[in-house]
Amino acid sequence: MKPLHEMAARLAGFDADALPVHAVQAAIDACLDPINDRETVPLAQALGRVLAQDLISPIDVPAHDNSAMDGYAFAHGFSASGPARLRIVGAALAGHPYPTRVPAGACVRIMTGAVLPNGCDTVVPQELCTVHDDTLWFPADAVRAAEHCRPRGEDLARGAAALQAGRHLTPADLGLAASLGVESLLVMRRLRVAYFSTGDEVCAPGTPLRPGAIYDANGASVRAMLERLGVTPIDLGIVGDDPARLEAALHDASLYADAVVTSGGVGLGDADHTRVLLARLGDVVAWNLAIRPGRPMVFGQLHRPAADATRLSCALFGLPGNPVAAMVSFYVFVRPALLRLQGAQARPLPRLRVRCTERLRKRAGRTEFQRGILHTDSAGEPAVRSTGPQGSGVLRSMTQANCLIVLPDAQGDVAAGDWVEVMLFEGLV
Ligand code: AMP
Ligand code: MG
Repeated sequence: MKPLHEMAARLAGFDADALPVHAVQAAIDACLDPINDRETVPLAQALGRVLAQDLISPIDVPAHDNSAMDGYAFAHGFSASGPARLRIVGAALAGHPYPTRVPAGACVRIMTGAVLPNGCDTVVPQELCTVHDDTLWFPADAVRAAEHCRPRGEDLARGAAALQAGRHLTPADLGLAASLGVESLLVMRRLRVAYFSTGDEVCAPGTPLRPGAIYDANGASVRAMLERLGVTPIDLGIVGDDPARLEAALHDASLYADAVVTSGGVGLGDADHTRVLLARLGDVVAWNLAIRPGRPMVFGQLHRPAADATRLSCALFGLPGNPVAAMVSFYVFVRPALLRLQGAQARPLPRLRVRCTERLRKRAGRTEFQRGILHTDSAGEPAVRSTGPQGSGVLRSMTQANCLIVLPDAQGDVAAGDWVEVMLFEGLV
């Protein structure tokens, strides 16, 4: 990771008490250096991994000219009027090519995917044909030369890049690799990301709830979001509001993790003692962002022990404690950062502009990520409505939502019928 003072300059022009979301995203991005370690894994283990080098096709796909229809293959060469009459001399089935050259005036019964026989360049679909004994009839103007054939290399020519380095591998990518005869892929190693929740009131699910305590929601949601990103999560549990325990947990994480994600303890009330502690452990900044839900956030890198100076540093993301704020901050800041650390190409979340079917309250001067339900309105058009109360502790709003309504800094209240931008969850939430 690059030193944070390089990034401080990027944020110097903004109100330190209300840093804009995009500026902070760009500043984080500028600090991160992707990991370098790679490994080869079989296709069956490659889903969600990050491809470490371009996949070059070793073959033409398809490997032969072949038929796109069930019908008859022949050499086109007659004038375009009157009936065409051809002698049927054999058959070509998928996996069973016709063995010899087809002479002029003859044709071969052919099935979809079968290799186009030598001497043929066109296929006439069977529904256009009449067959009498060994003779085929069809209107000559029913097919043009080369019609209903898939030429060799049409999908992908040998030597072309089938997949680019940095792709987060999808089921379609794995199918494509398999179609090239490839059985394993070079991918980036998995990122190791430690996480823990903080707070004296935070209690592990499955244990009795102490008076005044709450159950740890963030541990579960942060872990699950990490898993969906394809990283290896390392559970450091719950750490009370005790500087010594916090220091021990962060030190621990810095020894073996590439990044650590914490929640809670970064708000105004906690910031001072956290800041002193973090300054000792690494190169860390505490921000106040122009965002809702969210606002406080910590970012930086933890020092590694001197003996381990060859290893990359450990990035730290300190998220706010309120469960919705933690998830939204993860989505907006941590997700792109961890993708980049893993060597993945930037993959912006899909956004859509749709009409909002109801009034939304919004304060200008900050970006709001309100929880929305994308649906089809009575006219069949896509539209979005709110999940209801938007408090940053109302975690149910995240489970009801299927998108975030992104209301930019300058935006004030939204009137019913206004256009708004929504960001789709895309599997992470
Ligand atoms: P903090 O950021 O630590 O001031 O916490 C803000 C609010 O979020 C407080 O009401 C905390 O009780 C709550 N909170 C903090 N951590 C968690 C957690 N892991 N799960 C659920 N709520 C939390
Ligand atoms: Mg707390």
